[in-house]
Amino acid sequence: MVKDEGLLPTSSFKARGLGVAVSMAKQFGIRHLAIPSNGNAGAAMAAYGAKAGIKCTVFCPDDTPEINIREISRLGAEIFKVNGLINDCGKIVREGKDEVGWFDVSTLKEPYRIEGKKTMGLELAEQLNWELPDVIFYPTGGGTGLIGMWKAFSELQKLGWVGKKLPRMVAVQADGCAPIVDAWRQGKETAELWENANTIAAGIRVPVAVGDFLIIRAVNESNGFAISVSDNEIVEARDFVSKTEGTLLCPEGAATLAAFEKSLSEGLVSNNDRVVLFNCASGLKYSLPKVKNTLNKDQAVDYSMF
Ligand SMILES: *Cc1c(COP(=O)(O)O)cnc(C)c1O
Repeated sequence: MVKDEGLLPTSSFKARGLGVAVSMAKQFGIRHLAIPSNGNAGAAMAAYGAKAGIKCTVFCPDDTPEINIREISRLGAEIFKVNGLINDCGKIVREGKDEVGWFDVSTLKEPYRIEGKKTMGLELAEQLNWELPDVIFYPTGGGTGLIGMWKAFSELQKLGWVGKKLPRMVAVQADGCAPIVDAWRQGKETAELWENANTIAAGIRVPVAVGDFLIIRAVNESNGFAISVSDNEIVEARDFVSKTEGTLLCPEGAATLAAFEKSLSEGLVSNNDRVVLFNCASGLKYSLPKVKNTLNKDQAVDYSMF
């Protein structure tokens, strides 16, 4: 099963966390928010910030997908392209806090984004009739969603709304940026900064995660695992699904399918498992291939070509 988060406001699951974070910021009377973003978080913050009447400043790596940059700008946020990665953007936000007075909405630097992301777990339980799946493949950057869902499941369990058996949580990363996979394989509790991070899956190009220990803990507590896939495998999975299922996955969502297939072949999951893959954003947010076919209406159409 695929949980398609591309259908949410601003077309990604970042709306869940930032809907709650911005609402709480408004309740606390905060006037200026700042965020480092690979695109979708900035767009979600800008959208809710616009509605709340809160000033928003966003810092993105300069190679963030153009559509995200323009979306953020159209939504009225102040946006800057930074010649670095998301951790470099995060440093600018952190170091400007005292001087500018903005509030830092970075992943796990405030408590509400994760509460919003928790709704993925609640919704899964509800949509699957309170029978949680066996395995969840989650494209992991900062890891808010994975940590949030794990929190949701344990809370549902305490309420007695779901049974004893919880899903195995699988952290999926790209070969070109896999700090959590590396750390998990080596049995470490925290991850090292990943040098020269590089992948087409921008949303999971996160060289260092503040919540690394929480991600690894959730993976281990759930008897899950961490796995990475190549950009080629991501592209293959994306193209396969668009042509056979009629769903435009984002590269990060496609990574979960590639990881699932790899896990099946390595015996990490079985054919009998009920598996949920997360498509975290609409495939329309990424540039699509150009089409070269043209037809001249003023000439005889050669129908033999169809
Ligand atoms: C943010 C994002 C991710 C990673 O989500 P986290 O919960 O921060 O790990 C994956 N894919 C897309 C498209 C994203 O925007």
